[in-house]
Amino acid sequence: MKQIMSYLMEEIDIEPKFRKKQIFDWIYKKYVDDFDNMKNIPKDLREQLKEEYIINPLEILNHEIASDGTEKFLFGLHDGHTVETVLLRMKEGQVDEDGEVISEDKYTVCVSCQVGCKVGCSFCLTAKGGFVRDLTPAEIVAQVWMMKKVKNFNPTKALNVVYMGMGEPLDNYDNMVKAIKIISNEHCLHISPRRQTLSTSGIAPKIEKLAKENLGINLAISLHAVDDKLREELIPMNKAYNIQSVIDAVKKFPVDRRKKVLFEYLVIADINDDEKSANKLVKLLNGIKAKVNLIYFNPYPGTTYKRPTPEKMEKFKELLNKKGVICTIRESKGIDISAACGQLREKSTKK
Ligand code: SAH
Ligand code: SF4
Repeated sequence: MKQIMSYLMEEIDIEPKFRKKQIFDWIYKKYVDDFDNMKNIPKDLREQLKEEYIINPLEILNHEIASDGTEKFLFGLHDGHTVETVLLRMKEGQVDEDGEVISEDKYTVCVSCQVGCKVGCSFCLTAKGGFVRDLTPAEIVAQVWMMKKVKNFNPTKALNVVYMGMGEPLDNYDNMVKAIKIISNEHCLHISPRRQTLSTSGIAPKIEKLAKENLGINLAISLHAVDDKLREELIPMNKAYNIQSVIDAVKKFPVDRRKKVLFEYLVIADINDDEKSANKLVKLLNGIKAKVNLIYFNPYPGTTYKRPTPEKMEKFKELLNKKGVICTIRESKGIDISAACGQLREKSTKK
């Protein structure tokens, strides 16, 4: 069976053509996941479609909601593997005295692209289970689609999408690029590429390849360290693509006029949180339209790494800000449901 969410409308072979628009509207605007519920589609065409395609490749196995509004989904795939998707509520909607809605909740979806990951970062829980398989374009697209369906969002509601879940997006290059095209396409999810951010651990040649696709998406780099020796310990792939090669690749990436490249820096207590590292980071980013996002290391059973204190984080941030580098501290969301990627799946597979 083919997964219909792996295709753009023009790639589907159905006559007459206006039927395709109707079918895509049922799927992407009304979140219908059964051909039999597509009321204006003739029965014989529905039968033909049912034989050829499945609509929704994901099954909800678990859904947890944290006190801060973060929601975490565990999805089952057709072959029994699982992936997770996190829905972050960035800003609570505002209601005025008369009960009128003046601003809506703003959401960001954190999407996974692989079951497991090959990169094997020493701080990452996803890496511990090894690599299982790439997700198909449909399995990537459907994670965003599912959020809209479950929350019954208006199809035109703007969502932000970050490819920062489980897996390394540039290690599943073709499916990832296809999924981004489908998520952006007006007949499909129609989410502006400017609202989408791909995070990579730094496969330099793939960053250069992605730059040439001109998708219009934002780029985030998981830097985490400023010298190659430490970065190799954290991200073994740094042996093949060192810091300078990643920086050189970033310089070739087309960045929207109003946007910057995001550098993610996972702060681990007493490992990379010192003043020298902060100063080196400033030098490294010289000449790049960059902003830095500091992330608290989120401990899990069995790791020797420690979470830094808020004072240390603030100090690191101040050092960057003082030198003119825009730097923010990522709020830890959904702590009470372990929303750091890899943690829900870990919990459920241990049951
Ligand atoms: N593979 C890509 C995509 C996101 S990985 C990449 O590495 O950029 C998931 C994200 O979770 C990364 O930003 C990573 O830095 C972060 N992460 C992994 N383990 C973490 C932990 N224990 N605590 C906090 N963040 C973690
Ligand atoms: Fe893979 Fe990213 Fe985890 Fe590293 S941090 S193992 S690249 S998912």
